[in-house]
Amino acid sequence: MDLSKIFENNEKWIQAKTADDPAYFENLNKGQKPNVLYIGCSDSRVTAEDLMGMQPGELFVHRNVANIVNAIDLNAQSVINYAVKYLEVNHVVVCGHYSCGGVKAAMESKDMGILNPWLRNIRDVYRAHKDELNAITDEQKRYDRLVELNVKEQAINVLKMAAVQRAVRKRGMQVHGWVFDIKTGKLIDLKIDFQKALADIMEIYRLED
Ligand SMILES: [Zn+2]
Repeated sequence: MDLSKIFENNEKWIQAKTADDPAYFENLNKGQKPNVLYIGCSDSRVTAEDLMGMQPGELFVHRNVANIVNAIDLNAQSVINYAVKYLEVNHVVVCGHYSCGGVKAAMESKDMGILNPWLRNIRDVYRAHKDELNAITDEQKRYDRLVELNVKEQAINVLKMAAVQRAVRKRGMQVHGWVFDIKTGKLIDLKIDFQKALADIMEIYRLED
């Protein structure tokens, strides 16, 4: 791919945006007030804004391999804290996807070098749900289920954060778990009962006084 094509595309995009609204970029420059924080996978096929029909300014985005929310990942923790405390988003979405290479790699007995500690997060999800997963004989279905369970566990990891617990209690912020199906293009809401999930973990993870 010739990278100059990207700059041509950018020029066309600017023209399209300003044709509809000449002050488009002027207004964009004034600031952001996104309603949703999206935490998704880095996979090139899962284009957050595109698949949701969201416009610039509407979505605060964090992406990494297999949409992991790890307590000592300063990057993810900073993004979530900033979005929840300062941008005051009303929704935090953890969005996984079927055919996730990160989840697949965590299901294989293979030394992935520097990726090992990262993928360990997914192996830990497998261990926590080993009985359910091992009962699924179809490997593809077991893989799909691990994608879903990983989303759920990462959403619970979001709920373990002090800023999130406060935002849920004080202003009714919501946490969601979704999966994108690459085969069909469909976005699926796993309908996680985050209030129940939060209540379940509060005995151990409550961070508010
Ligand atoms: Zn992925």
